[in-house]
Amino acid sequence: MALAGPGSQAEFMASRIVVLGGGTGGTLAANRLRRQLAADDVITVVDRDNQHLYQPGLLFIPFGGTAAEKITRSRVRQLHAGVGYCESGADYVETDARRVHLEDGTVLPYDVLVIATGAALLPGETDGLAEATGRGEAFTFYEPAGAVALRDALAQFDGGRIVINVVDMPIKSRWPRSSSASWPTGISVGAESATGSS
Ligand SMILES: Cc1cc2nc3c(=O)[nH]c(=O)nc-3n(C[C@H](O)[C@H](O)[C@H](O)COP(=O)(O)OP(=O)(O)OC[C@H]3O[C@@H](n4cnc5c(N)ncnc54)[C@H](O)[C@@H]3O)c2cc1C
Repeated sequence: MALAGPGSQAEFMASRIVVLGGGTGGTLAANRLRRQLAADDVITVVDRDNQHLYQPGLLFIPFGGTAAEKITRSRVRQLHAGVGYCESGADYVETDARRVHLEDGTVLPYDVLVIATGAALLPGETDGLAEATGRGEAFTFYEPAGAVALRDALAQFDGGRIVINVVDMPIKSRWPRSSSASWPTGISVGAESATGSS
């Protein structure tokens, strides 16, 4: 199958494209590929849930500008016609066999794999931040529960000092710097069949 359309230079044999992660990146990649690839090329997006969160909107929750449900949409409805969807966590990838194993037991063979599983917050990478968050003294608006907690804390704030801290970049991270053992998105990738644990 050939990539078609303006600006395309690559030609590759591909008929099964699996996209891991139905966030902004995965959704855009799948929809653009759908426009460019032939109709008999199969595109499948995999995500754990059907709740697409528009992350930049989180900034407005602490100030009452919006609510989490208003910035959340069905992932499936963001995908163009002709893009398939599997709702399950991706467990592990067998790169030699070109197969993705999902947590629900489904096995998806692929010719091309797009990994768009995003990044995770790692408050433990900043000394004391996780503890202060647990005590209700520090807040992050980078995920819905934190944005709501900050909104509630600001509503009760009656004076004092507020410190705004941008933690060390990257603010989200694919790999914890202190450990090479785990990947926040929970997928293990290997040439040999894995045990399923990650
Ligand atoms: C407060 C805030 C403000 C922002 N403002 C801006 C801005 O102004 N401009 C801008 O460009 N960007 C902004 N961003 C960043 C932008 O939102 C992100 O860069 C973007 O959403 C990342 O998209 P992504 O597809 O890489 O990851 P995500 O959208 O996080 O998607 C990753 C997906 O992978 C899925 N996933 C992960 N692991 C697995 C697994 N094992 N199995 C199945 N599914 C899995 C997750 O469920 C998730 O749906 C902002 C972010 C925040 C939080």
